[in-house]
Amino acid sequence: MNITSKLPNLGTTIFSVMSALANETGAINLSQGFPNYECDPKLLDLVTQYMKKGMNQYAQMPGVPVLCQQLAKKINSLYVAEFNPATEITICPGATEAIFSAIMAFVHPGEEVIVIEPAYDCYVPSIELAGGKPVPYALRAPDWKVDWAELGKLISPKTRMIIINTPHNPLGTILDESDILALQKLVSGTDIIVLSDEVYEHLVLEKGATHCSVMRYPELRKRSLSVFSFGKTLHATGWKLGYIVGDERLMREFRKVHQFNVFSANTPMQYAIADYLEDPSVYNSLPDFFAQKRDFFLDLIKDSPFKCRPSQGTYFQVADYSAISDEADTDFAIRMTKEFGVAVIPISSFYSNKLDNKVIRFCFAKTEETLLAAAERISKINVSVR
Ligand code: PMP
Ligand code: GLN
Repeated sequence: MNITSKLPNLGTTIFSVMSALANETGAINLSQGFPNYECDPKLLDLVTQYMKKGMNQYAQMPGVPVLCQQLAKKINSLYVAEFNPATEITICPGATEAIFSAIMAFVHPGEEVIVIEPAYDCYVPSIELAGGKPVPYALRAPDWKVDWAELGKLISPKTRMIIINTPHNPLGTILDESDILALQKLVSGTDIIVLSDEVYEHLVLEKGATHCSVMRYPELRKRSLSVFSFGKTLHATGWKLGYIVGDERLMREFRKVHQFNVFSANTPMQYAIADYLEDPSVYNSLPDFFAQKRDFFLDLIKDSPFKCRPSQGTYFQVADYSAISDEADTDFAIRMTKEFGVAVIPISSFYSNKLDNKVIRFCFAKTEETLLAAAERISKINVSVR
């Protein structure tokens, strides 16, 4: 039997590969992004209550109405943007599904999607499965800034979509208002849709900075779909729950795909989250919580040869290891895991041309105990290991 792969050049995602290697070798896992501490027991109690109350059958296809209403309220208070909870918000089993279904819904075969790289790893395969053509725009160390005029040169009559991600995984950078205004100017008057990955909206760690959502800007609001993940906001990545927000005309098309991709997301957690989000401090406390972890970790490794600029957002920290080794980042990440006992992610895996900037990513969403143990191992890495 001949099998013709739809994704012939794709292997297993780097997150699975590095987590498996960490488990195999007993390394401290700072690779795949997930917290190693529990989420709020109050939230667990709410889920249990709703399960016991019998909320265990299919949710409505677009999501449980009370949760969509709660999210509409939250979005309005944070971003001064009105979205109709019945027609403009859809609850999804993770941001990954939202991204996949959005790309499937809008990208026709032969159309182009501009992807800013390094890019979260599900974007490009989803575009390819839709028959679209990823058009990469490469960010470069050490500033990782988007030059919007340069990016604009990639726009062609075939451009259907631009994907942005702020705060950015893996870089930990954020887009500011001037970035979003430049993007708005580029797409204004075109048929380009912006897919805005905002799963780290509550993890803006830079002092004085705020999350710049496309939802705030009228010209972008009508042509954008914004994607969110409860995994990040509630310290519960394993629940695989998120949502997508966008203008009704876009959402109608999105739901045509979503309904046959997954139909709906799990019911009791949707009810529980709707109640839990009544208290805004659950997400408003996140910047301080994660900034403290970032600073704790950076302070511990400040005398190591890794060069770090403090992350502006997310729970990731990138580090330049060029003072330690000139190995390829994939080899260095494997050596860090096997020899030094700390698993990390090589940034080249987020570039379609595997561009190697000699940079790796740490996840600091860990207990202080884990960060201390990891830092102790990291401190043993010095220039003599070249
Ligand atoms: N986008 C980015 C930038 C992410 O980092 C992640 C997951 N960590 C996702 C999307 C997917 O989120 P989920 O786990 O909710 O599918
Ligand atoms: N988003 C997580 C990360 O960046 C991983 C998610 C996954 O494993 N698919 O590490």
